[in-house]
Order: sequence, then C-alpha cells, then structure tokens
Amino acid sequence: MAAGVLSFEQARHAVEREAARVQPREIESVDLLSAAGRVLAQPVLADRDIPPFPRSTRDGYAVRVSDLSQVPIHVEVIAEIKAGQKPEEIPAAIQPGQTAAIMTGAPVPSGADAVVMVEYTKPRGNQVEIARQVAPGENIVPRGAEARQGSSLIDRGTRLHEAAIALAASVGKSELPVYKRPRIAILTTGDEIVGVDSLPGPTQIRNSNSYSLAVQVHRAGGDPILLPIAPDEPGRLRELIEEGLNHDLLLMTGGVSMGRYDLVEQVLSEMHAEFFFTGAKIQPGRPVVFGRCGVPSREGATYFYGLPGNPVSTMVTFELFARPMLEALAGMSPRKLAFVHAKLKSEIKVKPGLKRFLPATLSGEFEHSQVELVAWQGSGDIAATARANCYIVIPPERELLSAGDWVPVMIR
Ligand code: AMP
Ligand code: MG
Repeated sequence: MAAGVLSFEQARHAVEREAARVQPREIESVDLLSAAGRVLAQPVLADRDIPPFPRSTRDGYAVRVSDLSQVPIHVEVIAEIKAGQKPEEIPAAIQPGQTAAIMTGAPVPSGADAVVMVEYTKPRGNQVEIARQVAPGENIVPRGAEARQGSSLIDRGTRLHEAAIALAASVGKSELPVYKRPRIAILTTGDEIVGVDSLPGPTQIRNSNSYSLAVQVHRAGGDPILLPIAPDEPGRLRELIEEGLNHDLLLMTGGVSMGRYDLVEQVLSEMHAEFFFTGAKIQPGRPVVFGRCGVPSREGATYFYGLPGNPVSTMVTFELFARPMLEALAGMSPRKLAFVHAKLKSEIKVKPGLKRFLPATLSGEFEHSQVELVAWQGSGDIAATARANCYIVIPPERELLSAGDWVPVMIR
C-alpha cells in the first residue's frame, strides 16, 4: 500500500487533482421547474440582445439632456410610453423641446438620451416642468448592455440556482439539458451493524451512516445506492466492494482504523487498488482513505473513499474529501470550501497537530454571529452533532482560541 497520512491541504489537493480528471456521464433533458439543483450540460445562450431595447429603469420623462442646460424648464409632452407599448405607438423621435412620459421597463424612444425621475417633475397641461438635470444615459440600460445575442449566459457545469433558472426562463428555455446524476454506491461495514428495521442485540447498533451519506450524496448531486451491510470478513467484504466499484463512485464507511478487524484497506490492497492517501491530519476522521481500483466488469478504475465509521467522522470526511469528487462526477465546475466567521462564545483548548472540525452551534446574524462548541462524547456522538448546525474549524498550529476570537466556521 502506497501513500500515507497527509496534511488536510495535501489531501484536499489530491482530491481536487483526481476530481479534475473525471467526466460526467450522459445528458438528459429536464423541465425548467425540475431543473433546480441540476448541473447544466450545455451553455444557455442569449436568444436576442438583453435588454432588446434601451430600457427605462424609472418612471419619469424621457428627455434630451441638451434641453436641460438650465432648470427648471418646461418641455412639451408628446406621448406616454408604458412597458409593453407597441412599437407603432411610440414616437419615432423626441425632438428638441419635447419629452415623453415613460414607465419603468418601457423602451426609450430615439432622440431621448436620459430619463428624469417623476419625483423631479410637475405636469403643466400638455407640458411638464423639469426641476433637475440628468447625465447622458442616466436611468437607461442600453440595448444589449446585459448580454449580446448569441453570448453565453449560463456556463456548462453550473449548478442551477434560482437566478440561473430565471435567466433560462428569460430566454425561452422551458427545458434544459443537464447531466444525469452519478450513481454512488454506499457500503457500510462492521459485524456490529444491523439494518434500520432490525432490533439490535445488546452489543449491536443500527446502521445510521448509510443514511447520513445518502443525504450528503443527494445534496452533492448524486443518486445514492445502498448496498447490503458488509461483515468484518474478507471474502464477503470483497464481493461487496466489487459490487460497489461497478458504480460511478464507492463510498465505504467503517473498517479503515487500526483495529484488527478493520479490513477495508487490506481487501482493497489485495485487489491492487491505488491509494492516494490512507489518512489525513484532521479530527474527526483521521483514518480517511482515498484511492481507486479497477474491477473486471468495468472499464477504467473507480474512485473509492473509506470513511471512518464514527458517525461524525463519516459526515465530516464526506464534506471535506468526497464532495469534490462527487460534484465532478455530477459535471459541476470545481469550487472551494466556503467558510463564514463568527465570534467564539467561550474558549477552546486543543492539542496542536490536527486540523479540527468540531460540531458547534452558530447563532446571531452577520456581524453579531456567535458560535460555541456543543458538548459531545467524541466522534461517535450522533445526538450532539444533530444538535449542532456547523463545525468550528481550528488550524493544526492553534492550541488556544479565546472567547471573543473570530473563528472560521463550516456550515453544514
Ligand atoms: P470503525 O471505523 O469500523 O472502527 O467504526 C468506528 C465506530 O463507528 C464504531 O463504534 C462503529 O460501531 C461505528 N459505526 C461504524 N459503522 C457505522 C454505521 N454504519 N452506523 C453507525 N455507526 C457505525
Ligand atoms: Mg468497524
């Protein structure tokens, strides 16, 4: 077995490097209303200039700036232009000394080069008194200023959010080409693990990791496929690993620590797997494994992760290391982990050497954000992590964080 224990940054780098090598699978077409969260497979282009006409951004009067060299001034109102006004009802040109009343979203007629807000005007019969000057172009978005016809509005690889969906709607895309969701096998290991519908014996525990992983897989754009629970026995474990490697990605949980029955690495080594790392200097989740392995039934090698079985470790190591690979398989352009900052409520002391991701509760908003650790019994404590809504991130060299320090927080 090659590789070894890497720093957090080295391990992230290995993941990003491998994620850059994978390709998403096939494309399918989905209805615009079901496209949120999916990954765009072909760019969406502007079907015409946006805006298609010089658009007024205010209710007011379309004027010739040169008419307003002295204010207040009276000009003749020759038309009223509302949003959606038919082209034949719009004056061909605004002549010197003339203006047109205009509404937000309406096309500015030629000749006019600015819009004066209605607040600075007073109607006087068929005239209007204008009290303020405007700069050329003020309150007008020129034709094509937002996008030129044929230019790309949404790039391939974009995960579709509400603004992208709105943009697609604005150019008439009622259906969008998206990548098919990658199929992600989830394999839990351990003789003590029983199914969620089973009544556990006194020393058994129910499988919860497959369920947290399924949620995380789905959130990252994949389709989770739960395999049967693998026992701590090499023969059956190997069969199930082979089955898992027939998917786009294999996520395993448990069996990667130093215990005598932690067989995942051993079985994968026997299968001639390539390992990129077999541990990362983090807590929780230090024994995390990342590699790839071929199976006769499938072309090329399949990436796999061995995530430590402690429930909090499984959740954290997925977010840190498996998510980028899953997103790449889903066709997404790579993105970095984002942090927010919050003020620490009470001090934290830790031993240096590991980058830590500790379950915590974030409260308050913006500059009043506060965070504090949840009381927990270590990385097996699902109840504590369910009470938490984030993780405090502590760099490996820090031993003391004082109350009032601004600390980085990873939102779950
Ligand atoms: P392991 O990584 O196999 O040494 O497991 C570490 C701890 O996580 C042990 O206490 C296991 O019982 C627990 N564990 C392993 N797999 C699961 C699972 N699927 N659901 C809940 N707990 C698990
Ligand atoms: Mg185990």
